[in-house]
Amino acid sequence: MKRPPLANALVAGAGLSGMATAICLSRLGVRVDLVEIDPGWRPATGPVRIDAAALQAMEALGIDGAGLAAIREADGIDLRSASGALLAHDPAGMARDTRGALMLRPALARLLADATLAAGVEVRLGATVRSLRQDADGVEVEFSDTHGARYDLLVGADGVHSRLRELAWRGAPQPAFSGQALWHARLPRPPALARATIWQGGDLELALHPVAADEACLLLRQDGAPGPVPAAQVLPMLRGLLARFPAAPVRAIAAALDGRSQAACRALERIELGAPWHSGRVLLAGDAVHGTVGRYGVGGSRGMGDAVLLARELAGASSVAQALERFQHRRWNPCNAPRSDPY
Ligand SMILES: Cc1cc2nc3c(=O)[nH]c(=O)nc-3n(C[C@H](O)[C@H](O)[C@H](O)COP(=O)(O)OP(=O)(O)OC[C@H]3O[C@@H](n4cnc5c(N)ncnc54)[C@H](O)[C@@H]3O)c2cc1C
Repeated sequence: MKRPPLANALVAGAGLSGMATAICLSRLGVRVDLVEIDPGWRPATGPVRIDAAALQAMEALGIDGAGLAAIREADGIDLRSASGALLAHDPAGMARDTRGALMLRPALARLLADATLAAGVEVRLGATVRSLRQDADGVEVEFSDTHGARYDLLVGADGVHSRLRELAWRGAPQPAFSGQALWHARLPRPPALARATIWQGGDLELALHPVAADEACLLLRQDGAPGPVPAAQVLPMLRGLLARFPAAPVRAIAAALDGRSQAACRALERIELGAPWHSGRVLLAGDAVHGTVGRYGVGGSRGMGDAVLLARELAGASSVAQALERFQHRRWNPCNAPRSDPY
């Protein structure tokens, strides 16, 4: 196999994108350090839907757990009106999504964290990049916890509020509230819920996904949302929004929500950095560069896809610069194509 044009790399941020990037680079034979600012390496809560492309990416990362196979949406998705009328089963444009999977974020994060450690990535928690300086051959990094080091490539996968973006791009745009909110909660699986179901109701779209024999996850997208919601208001406001769906199963869902449901609301922020996504040998990945609205329900999938493609380009390139150019060329369109599915 051709040797990749780099010996070592630093990844900043151990979310879905950062872990996937670290695994991919390490499997290429690159020595990878991964710094994560959270000393507890705690994943976000709530459900995450992984599309077919990301499932393929996970297989490329060597992750194909039996648990993952078990939760695939093999039974398809029902699309219903707010009053419950069946509009379509596996409607056109969603057919590929029946190969997706919904899982709880901590479970997905655990799969990736185990694969990261198994790949030999050097993980440092509670650490970040304090400053960086680069020349044509590499990046000098000062860390918050130790002295510095030099890398052939630095990948900033530190989320929508990326510090790496600020360090490497002068005057980079700041994320801004998008006007959309995503509500989510866990609840006992209604006995009648045979398959994932979506109810469409104007500026609201409710999805209920079975995630286990006895558990389901609710995702409610709200357009024209007012902004962040105080924690004490989440449950009553969520019930209020669900009341706008006359469908009987939604009434039952609203009645099943209580203090154990872990109901939460995220006011979504948007950031889109124009091309290129690299500045010299610093590359941004995941939400740091294309988070998250417009494609709010696919950001995790896109971040993992970024990783696989980056590794492919590095494997075949004669220089880091050439790989980053090719990566940009191939990744720009998939990440900016208009959304055609309702997730
Ligand atoms: C409510 C909601 C539901 C969603 N549902 C889906 C879905 O169903 N499917 C899907 O594909 N996507 C979904 N998304 C989008 C998806 O969650 C994100 O796109 C994805 O998690 C982005 O991953 P990331 O690794 O790029 O960034 P993040 O998940 O934000 O991870 C960044 C990591 O970097 C760390 N970090 C931050 N700053 C620093 C620093 N300075 N130095 C070092 N480390 C740092 C953070 O602690 C974190 O671990 C959803 C988003 C929301 C808000």
